Amino acid sequence: MNETDHRDLIARLDLPAKVRLLTGGDVFTLADEPRIGLEQVAFSDGPTGVRGLKFTGGRTVANFPNATVLAAAWDVDAAEEVGRLLAEEAMAQQIHVVLGPTINLHRSTLGGRLFEQYSEDPLLSGKLAAAYVRGLQSHDVGACLKHLVGNESETARNTVNSVIDETTLRELYLLPFEIATDEARPWSMMAAYNDVNGVAATEQDHVINEIVKGEWGFDGLVMSDWFGTKTAAPAANGGLDLVMPGPVGPWGDALVADVQNGLVDESVIDDHLERLLRLADRVGALLSERRSEERAEPRASHVHSSSRSWPTDIPAPDSPTRREQLTRLAAAGLTVLTNSGDALPLQRGTTVALIGRPAIDTIGMGGGSAHVNPPYQVSVADGLTALLGDDVTVTDGVEVRVRPVPAVAGFVVDPRDGTPGVRALVWDGAGNQLDDKHLATAFSVFGMDDGYPAPVGRVQLHARVEQGGPTEVGVIGLGAWTLRIEGRDWRREFVNRPAGTGLAEDMLVPPTSSTEVDLTPGDVLVAELVLPADRPTGSFDTGGLIARPVIRDQDAVIAEAVAAAGPAEIAVVVVGLTEELETEAVDKSTLALPGRQDDLVRAVAAAARRTVVVVNAATPVLMPWLDDVDAVLWAGLPGQEAGHAIAAVLVGDQEPTGRLVTTFPAADGAAPAWGVTPDANGDLHYTEGTFVGYRGHDAGRAPAPAFWFGHGLGYGRWEYPSAELVTGGGDRPDVRVTVRNTGPRTSREVVQVYFRPAQADQPVRLVGWATATVEPGATATVTVTPEARMWRRWDDDAQRWADLGTGGELIVARGLGDVRATLPLS
Ligand code: BGC
Repeated sequence: MNETDHRDLIARLDLPAKVRLLTGGDVFTLADEPRIGLEQVAFSDGPTGVRGLKFTGGRTVANFPNATVLAAAWDVDAAEEVGRLLAEEAMAQQIHVVLGPTINLHRSTLGGRLFEQYSEDPLLSGKLAAAYVRGLQSHDVGACLKHLVGNESETARNTVNSVIDETTLRELYLLPFEIATDEARPWSMMAAYNDVNGVAATEQDHVINEIVKGEWGFDGLVMSDWFGTKTAAPAANGGLDLVMPGPVGPWGDALVADVQNGLVDESVIDDHLERLLRLADRVGALLSERRSEERAEPRASHVHSSSRSWPTDIPAPDSPTRREQLTRLAAAGLTVLTNSGDALPLQRGTTVALIGRPAIDTIGMGGGSAHVNPPYQVSVADGLTALLGDDVTVTDGVEVRVRPVPAVAGFVVDPRDGTPGVRALVWDGAGNQLDDKHLATAFSVFGMDDGYPAPVGRVQLHARVEQGGPTEVGVIGLGAWTLRIEGRDWRREFVNRPAGTGLAEDMLVPPTSSTEVDLTPGDVLVAELVLPADRPTGSFDTGGLIARPVIRDQDAVIAEAVAAAGPAEIAVVVVGLTEELETEAVDKSTLALPGRQDDLVRAVAAAARRTVVVVNAATPVLMPWLDDVDAVLWAGLPGQEAGHAIAAVLVGDQEPTGRLVTTFPAADGAAPAWGVTPDANGDLHYTEGTFVGYRGHDAGRAPAPAFWFGHGLGYGRWEYPSAELVTGGGDRPDVRVTVRNTGPRTSREVVQVYFRPAQADQPVRLVGWATATVEPGATATVTVTPEARMWRRWDDDAQRWADLGTGGELIVARGLGDVRATLPLS
């Protein structure tokens, strides 16, 4: 890796040429500059798969277990392995930088994007992020820590002002960024959409220049979140290095003029470019002098290729190698919340009534920019049937989706060739055809990353329905639509208006309209969007088609589930959220399961001999039926191998070794931080300070939770015969803990150590953990070295770190609801 500076290259460019490079060349690429050997650098989301250069309709890639499942394994080696595997996925597509990890914290459990983020705890988040970055960058693929900073929820995310005192900012929300920067030297970061204390995150001289680049010595590049840059000079002076996406943006000529007028010093531009070239150099997109001269003609900028030599032997997303990796990684994070009478694991030979919509339509990922296009999605029904065969019956459950959704491929087919999906036709405003393509999903973004020569003027989606009957049909996306059935006298018009929350929201959670119609098998639906003439270059639109059977009577669905549960020896009910609720761009308003899922669980539990509930959601849900069921397995969003991973742990082929990364509140609002809606001034006050999650519950700032951060039973039973302070390498003692597995199975324990400071105004906090895999009846001794950073206190008056000093106690616990030892510190 070449870490030298690039002053000589920068000196060859005039000001406009330099500034041009500081805005993206495209939606997910940087502009190239053949004169200095700069090739096109390609970015891709991140963080739970490498989607590629297209937002929708891109290539098939592996969908990894989402962040909360990965984090729940409390395993830095697994996080590093994920980083390495994502680097492979990136290299297979010639991607230089993966836009992850997402390391905002789980402040309020209503946050829509928590599935992408590791935890409510900054130490766990920081350590896992560092490992993930190390894994990625070990293959010369850049990581991007995001979103700097104070982006813990999505409501009004483009305008919200997160009001966070300096102590909380430093001790909590910046800490994962600091740890990852210190331990793994990430090559880029992304500045958030929101403001922090009245200043846009993209203009944060204090955060970016003073803290990140100054105090931490971060030598990488800071890019904006997509369309998030609001100004030229304030952002450039505030430390933002790169505006994304491009080529149009608020810098360009405006920034050139600001330099010429003296508002921005040219040395500031040079520093931004230095960081950009350093990134390009690190990822192999900066040609050496010799190779640059050999190069004949500059490529057209939309052609993505590179002289970096990319490996060609990378396992395909559906290869046996990936299947094994993804199943194993997911299973490790699944978490046993309750398990009375050892209802789990299921004994082979037991008859199982598997029930619930998420058992059939298992959700592997959340929504928004983290989504990928996986080769398949294994359902729990498929996974469990593969292991238990005829002993399993599968029964659908109640509706779980709250909004009309794009037609499922298979329910609709492309009328042209009968393949699952829809046919999309696209024209410009003058009537020239721009595209004629098959879409695997009945939803796409048009005109953003398609390379069309002109803005889109009209879009048609054609779909043949294979099944008749009463059907909900409609359209998705802003604008004036007509929907008709070919050859029939049926036609509806819809106008979908902006929700008023901003460009990305209208793209990620677009408005919908629908109606009901009785369809005959073979009917072809045509949805047409006509856009206003003279649209500016760079405009893009979402378009989708809704078609699904009208929702059945839910009492009848519950009655069928009850009938199925009765004869079986055990009922396994899968409940959950969907990518509509766990998504970028919107927050939840309740932790209650959508639809009548609670009624379903209660009814089944009343009828079944034993009941196990599997929760297919990344974040906490309310469980009003908790006392009625025998076991609860939290399954998160486990990626494309979800069903295999869940089945493997249900039958005990793999241990669900997860420990919760978020405290589960017992009721809506029963948490130290709850509201995510800014006040009338647009401010969102982080009034709970550093008492987030378990820290606040422990301090009595919220009622006892349903499940603590760190809770998880696995399939072992644990005694802690001894825990003692021993002299360590640092200023503070280490903690040596012996654990004994008294259960009948080999199991992995996560020994957690928390520090409760002597000072009453300081919250308890996780300071370290260690893991041990132990056979039945055996013991193991682990040593936890507490993280020195967790003894720091930000002294706001002196504007520097201070030490919490001596005193307080260390707590050895399996989550703070199950304390095993308390060790006073002198
Ligand atoms: C998200 C980022 C993402 C970017 C590019 C934004 O909407 O907030 O996390 O990397 O889009 O897709």
